[in-house]
Amino acid sequence: MKKPKNEIPLVDTAEQYLSLEKEINKEIVNVLASGQYIMGPKVEEFERAIAAYCEVKYAIGVANGTDALLLTLEALGIGAGDEVITTPFTFFATTEVISRLNAIPVFVDIDPDTYNIDTSKIEAAITPKTKAIIPVHLFGQPANMDEIVDIAEQRSLYVIEDACQAIGSLYKGRKVGSMGIAGCFSFFPTKNLGGFGDGGMIVTNDADLTSKVKRLRIHGSSQKYYHTHIGYNSRLDPIQAAALHVKLPHLDSYNQMRRKKAAIYNDSFKNLPLKLPTEQECSDSVYHLYIIQTPLREQLMTYLQEHGIQTGIYYPVPLHLQEVYQHLGYKKGDLPESEKASTCTLALPLYPELTKDNQSYIISIVRQFFKSISKK
Ligand SMILES: *Cc1c(COP(=O)(O)O)cnc(C)c1O
Repeated sequence: MKKPKNEIPLVDTAEQYLSLEKEINKEIVNVLASGQYIMGPKVEEFERAIAAYCEVKYAIGVANGTDALLLTLEALGIGAGDEVITTPFTFFATTEVISRLNAIPVFVDIDPDTYNIDTSKIEAAITPKTKAIIPVHLFGQPANMDEIVDIAEQRSLYVIEDACQAIGSLYKGRKVGSMGIAGCFSFFPTKNLGGFGDGGMIVTNDADLTSKVKRLRIHGSSQKYYHTHIGYNSRLDPIQAAALHVKLPHLDSYNQMRRKKAAIYNDSFKNLPLKLPTEQECSDSVYHLYIIQTPLREQLMTYLQEHGIQTGIYYPVPLHLQEVYQHLGYKKGDLPESEKASTCTLALPLYPELTKDNQSYIISIVRQFFKSISKK
């Protein structure tokens, strides 16, 4: 198979814009002409659209996914000395916000098949200081929400869904973000609903949480220049909101295209010595990333790079072994599944616009790699 002219990127953020260029430009120009550059009707319309999409009552736009998590935790009263249970196999922001509030991340190992928090290990991590659980729907696949919500209800804990990688994915027919007290989304350009800069959203059915988060996002104030709390400046930009609103009606079809391409990879790789993504029967993953696992990761990455195919590692260091968390006292071997995933997993290019030809090329090069090593 012939090598494409250009390198195949791991993700392509411009293609989607180009296919909706006219509509997006029109919406952005409308915002520019309106003079309303902070908050306003475009943000409110997009919030309503996201709430409807996620089947919840309220949605609150914020500056990014990290702030969505931070403001939610703070509004729930999580603070100094409180413990929050989560997974070490996620992007750093998930626990950064816990630490930012002087609370303590408590790490529970992952299920080696789904890469999500192993729900059978949560109970053992609960102490009298535990206040919340943050399941991360990693790579677009929902965590086992029924088990998590059950445990949380018995122990009076909050469940905050880190759904930054999973907008649109379904767990037993329910949208992610709608099952905990709150769900947090990111519109970082590479996410499944990607903006043209930073953006984030909190979704919830809780009116009290909504008003607290709204207050935090504008300097702890419900009435202009009257401040009842120390807050933040964390608003969703109306230009982002307007552009994202154009993309939202296409999100389900984008996610379907990701699912189709993931199925093609799965089928093409089934006879290779690779661990492929496992999709749970009760859920529909939106394949934020397509992750394979092999002890030959480094060789495979180099081989693909030599053949013009970009790959990525998500994530090379599990959070319990990060330098900044040395003081928490975890050591190598404590959370073996997360550590194994960090050393053996690899993301292949996957995005709705990945062409048939390029995907076939990637598949043939992966096959060729395994052939070449079996000869040695
Ligand atoms: C992207 C991401 C975040 C943070 O979102 P930002 O918009 O970049 O702040 C948090 N958690 C997870 C799992 C993510 O993938």
